[in-house]
Amino acid sequence: MNIKKQGILRLVRIGLAAFFFIGINLLLLDYSGLLARYLGWMAKLQFLPAVLALNFGVFITIFILTLVFGRFYCSTICPLGVWQDIVSHLAARRKPQRFSYMHRRRILRILFVGVTLAGVFTTMNLLVALLAPFGTWSRIVVNLVQPLWGFVLNGISALENHLGIYHTFPVEVWLKSFAGLGLAVFSLLLVSIIAWFKGRLWCNTVCPVGTILGFAAKRAVFRPTIDFDKCIRCKKCERICKSSCINIRHHRLDGGRCVDCFDCIAECPVGAIYFFPPAEKPDKNTEEKPRHHHHHHHHHGGPWQSNWQPKIQARNPAPTSLRNPPNPRRNPLTMSTRRVG
Ligand code: SF4
Ligand code: SF4
Ligand code: SF4
Repeated sequence: MNIKKQGILRLVRIGLAAFFFIGINLLLLDYSGLLARYLGWMAKLQFLPAVLALNFGVFITIFILTLVFGRFYCSTICPLGVWQDIVSHLAARRKPQRFSYMHRRRILRILFVGVTLAGVFTTMNLLVALLAPFGTWSRIVVNLVQPLWGFVLNGISALENHLGIYHTFPVEVWLKSFAGLGLAVFSLLLVSIIAWFKGRLWCNTVCPVGTILGFAAKRAVFRPTIDFDKCIRCKKCERICKSSCINIRHHRLDGGRCVDCFDCIAECPVGAIYFFPPAEKPDKNTEEKPRHHHHHHHHHGGPWQSNWQPKIQARNPAPTSLRNPPNPRRNPLTMSTRRVG
């Protein structure tokens, strides 16, 4: 498995994110209501609305897919998550590699899930409104962007009428409510500022959906895994991880907070991070294992061939400590990525 192949995962993620982000925003902006026929399914895929609508098929499917692939949902389907990535990406242009490992905030997260559930079952709608990701994003778009979009449409309509074309009609632009507008501005600023400085901190501390999906993702079958035999401890992955969930020093990658952005995989200079583990790890120094050597003896030719090696060397490859820089912290029992918690 080479580095380029692993970088494809990141491109696929960005493609899906763009597809959903554009689709959902068009759906939210649409004055005509016609787009719902084509894009309505995107709103139906949103986790919390599906839970509240008791749409079992949707949220059980997302949950099971998260058990297998991790929090892909948070990098593609959730518009609030994609928005944070856009902000975080702009911030990274000014200051790349700006993150470092952060301890998880388990109590806070459980608290926010509890508050959301309490809000759902009682009448504390304000709390749910602030914490629910799709509700928050819808409010931002409907209150802040849709009126502007309406003015643009009306401008076009007026221009056309002026020219004697009468196939468009002005739309009614109105502010839904001042409370909604205030809440939208507040959420947008809060989430954007946090994303600018701290990446996906909102997703990994506050958002109740992130906590619920994180619970499934922690045990995901496929999740980024670091091969610490290959890793050269450059920490590039740790500094680029907007979820602050990679800890190179302690050989950890918290799958519960990872949002499957695959930035780390694309960034690693030696291709030591895998999402789909390679069938067999290519390692030039151990290719000639003694038993292979035994059976395929004749393939290696003799001293007159350039790839010939004395037998003794092939049978006893140099110890790992000579091939890789020694690491005093290295413990054979913890060489693979450990789960946190
Ligand atoms: S954690 Fe919440 S806000 Fe963040 S991407 Fe996931 S669902 Fe969206
Ligand atoms: S560990 Fe971090 S950088 Fe790597 S895929 Fe997960 S969130 Fe992205
Ligand atoms: S980027 Fe790759 S080599 Fe560098 S610390 Fe991360 S896993 Fe190791």
